[in-house]
Amino acid sequence: SGDFTIDFLVMLADTGELKEFKPQRLLIIMELKLYNTLTRKKEAFKEIKKGHVGMYSCGPTVYSYQHIGNMRAYLFADLLKRVLLFNEYKVKHVVNITDVGHLTSDADEGEDKMEKAALKEGKSAYEIAYFYFKIFKEDLKKLNIIDADIYPKASEHIKEQIELILNLEKKGYTYKTSDGVYFDSSKFKDYGKLGMIKIEGLKKGKRVSFGEKKNKTDFALWKFSTEKGKRQQEWDSPFGVGFPGWHVECSAMSMKYLGEHFDIHTGGEDHVQIHHTNEIAQSECATGKKCVNYWIHVAFLTFKGEKVSKSKGGLYTISELEEQGYNAFDFRYLCLLSHYHSQLSFSLENLDSAKNAFSRMKRKVIELKKSGGKGGDFSKEYGGKFLNALNDDLNTPVAMQVVLQMIDDEDFDASKKVKLLEKFDRVLGLGIKEMKEEKVKLPLAVKKLVDERERLRKEKKWAEADIVRERIKREGYLIEDVVEGIKVRKI
Ligand code: AMP
Ligand code: ZN
Repeated sequence: SGDFTIDFLVMLADTGELKEFKPQRLLIIMELKLYNTLTRKKEAFKEIKKGHVGMYSCGPTVYSYQHIGNMRAYLFADLLKRVLLFNEYKVKHVVNITDVGHLTSDADEGEDKMEKAALKEGKSAYEIAYFYFKIFKEDLKKLNIIDADIYPKASEHIKEQIELILNLEKKGYTYKTSDGVYFDSSKFKDYGKLGMIKIEGLKKGKRVSFGEKKNKTDFALWKFSTEKGKRQQEWDSPFGVGFPGWHVECSAMSMKYLGEHFDIHTGGEDHVQIHHTNEIAQSECATGKKCVNYWIHVAFLTFKGEKVSKSKGGLYTISELEEQGYNAFDFRYLCLLSHYHSQLSFSLENLDSAKNAFSRMKRKVIELKKSGGKGGDFSKEYGGKFLNALNDDLNTPVAMQVVLQMIDDEDFDASKKVKLLEKFDRVLGLGIKEMKEEKVKLPLAVKKLVDERERLRKEKKWAEADIVRERIKREGYLIEDVVEGIKVRKI
């Protein structure tokens, strides 16, 4: 009936009462658990509306190319979405596009990144946003990231942002300085809850100067243009001509598309202390209720132990990796090998290992597709293990181990294995269905070497043939001797 405990079933098996039952084959499917930054706990996921999930992910500031660190954040959101889909939820996913108001410092200081880029490249802010958004979308496609349902742009939601600020003003949460309208963080008692920020300490220790702001943690909702007509992007508002602060777009647009209370909000770990803390403050003060149930953050991709940056390095784009002979899927595979909650230490050596492991996997899958069906069916067992790993806070390293073990399990019928792998690929997104023998077009020089090796082998000059094989390898191709003759593939 499904009400037996495992101990009871094991006991029955031991006494021979339950002939068919093999305890090691028993798998209980776990419910989905996710680590919530808000509670610092792994929690069972419970949706607000049965069977439906509303999910918002902080997207790119489209003033420049997105680097592989950013891509890790989108791959993580994609993984979470795919796991939700695998658990048969319907997901509405919103990814915002920041094309105004993100200053060079996350804390409302410095220049507007978009305006700065437009000036530097001699283009309009609109052209800059259009150009980098297009490349962003191309990179998502290369990485096989499922498209969001909506990509709302901050500059196209000025009305909604002004309305939100007016609401906060009416409720007494705002004040004006000479350069903008600010949110008074001391008025929201839960202000530091996400980042576990101790507000008292910040207020007392007024050693740092924060200009006209009342509290260090206060932030701009609206910034005034210093001189009308000097900025490209500015709007009239009840507060004065200017532009919205960076955080307000995410509150206004998430509410518009997902409602005042929705399920999941994602972003990189850098957003916990400022951006998401401020988003909670704006949304919850405006509506008087909790805005998001699960805040989930992906740890950074690092380079030589530090945050990727111009000075420290590691700022590759997907196109740059491609230029160096990698495929976007190699990067996807690398990301799957680490848990989203741990920093991913990136290096080209790590990417090489991932590329090789992924090629090995591909070759095995292609072989499996060619083998006929023989052997047992362990789909339930492997399927259960795979889902349990993912449902355990998206543990992809364990899920990948299950996949690799399963590929090598010779007792498992090959065609059933392929079917299951294709099902798993709904989460992995590695293109398992499309994996097939690639016809390599050999460069002329390599072809000549291959022919020469064949000739030497026919003459039984084995040692010389091996030397030529090494030369072919140095050119980037591997020769395999198979029953039907030879097979050449790219390394
Ligand atoms: P941005 O374009 O700077 O607003 O960032 C877009 C997304 O990438 C945000 O969710 C960031 O938190 C995330 N992000 C930025 N740098 C990294 C990194 N090195 N590793 C992982 N995520 C990052
Ligand atoms: Zn955001």
